[in-house]
Amino acid sequence: MNEPLIRVENLTKVYRIGAVDFPALVDVNFQIENGEFISIMGPSGSGKSTLLNILGALDRPTAGRVLVEGFDLFQRDDNQLAEFRNMKLGFIFQAHNLLARTSVLANVALPGMIAGESKAKRKERARELLELVGLGDRVTRKPNELSGGEQQRVAVARALMNYPLIVLADEPTGNLDSKTGYEIVAMMKRINMEQGTAFVLVTHNPQFASETERVIYLRDGRVTEETRESVTALSRHNELEAQRKLVDETIRKASATMTRLIKESDRLLS
Ligand code: ADP
Repeated sequence: MNEPLIRVENLTKVYRIGAVDFPALVDVNFQIENGEFISIMGPSGSGKSTLLNILGALDRPTAGRVLVEGFDLFQRDDNQLAEFRNMKLGFIFQAHNLLARTSVLANVALPGMIAGESKAKRKERARELLELVGLGDRVTRKPNELSGGEQQRVAVARALMNYPLIVLADEPTGNLDSKTGYEIVAMMKRINMEQGTAFVLVTHNPQFASETERVIYLRDGRVTEETRESVTALSRHNELEAQRKLVDETIRKASATMTRLIKESDRLLS
């Protein structure tokens, strides 16, 4: 039987605050297949960042396992985890975290340097990736000479530098307007389909989540739903809510106009 890319088994994370144990993740189970694009949604405080940090080997679980291609990730020591992170994972954060005084090309190539790749190979790969994200003509620019959306494109290219097994994106559209945010998600989707790189997208935006193949919904540290339909339903709910507000507002305005007209007629007739 083929192992999934990632299998999360009975994952629990408890933070101890003073003498009190606070469970941030409780018995979470799911898997991610090779080449999948999934999203994680849930209210603030529901455990999304905690889960992403564990998937990214930045933090260890209190109980449970994360199997990557069948291998138990947290059997490794901290040095091995750091190597796994550098070589096998790509990260995109809300803030792009680009080096300000370094060219876009060197920013993208940086993970290649950490991995010990030769300078020529790094440059070639970074150029190729900047083409892929539509910034082939910006390679010598500094990050602050680019727009917010372009900077996040550079961060996507950097995440792909070492041919990761999976890219973990924590609210990558959080600092962008919705149109630019959508362009970033659409670009990630295109790269996922063209290159087969798996992506995990943490987002608050149901529209962005509905672009992904599957949604894991967290509430109070537990997975509550794991379907595409639930997000479509949430999206529909938000849409209906917006329409309801519009209708309410129209009725309120119409009724104010009516009241005014009645008063006016009363005045004319009296
Ligand atoms: P989300 O990303 O969905 O907003 P988090 O994973 O950041 O949720 O947090 C889940 C819960 O765990 C929250 O109640 C948060 O306060 C708590 N938490 C997160 N990190 C820590 C920490 N380092 N120490 C103590 N509690 C934490």
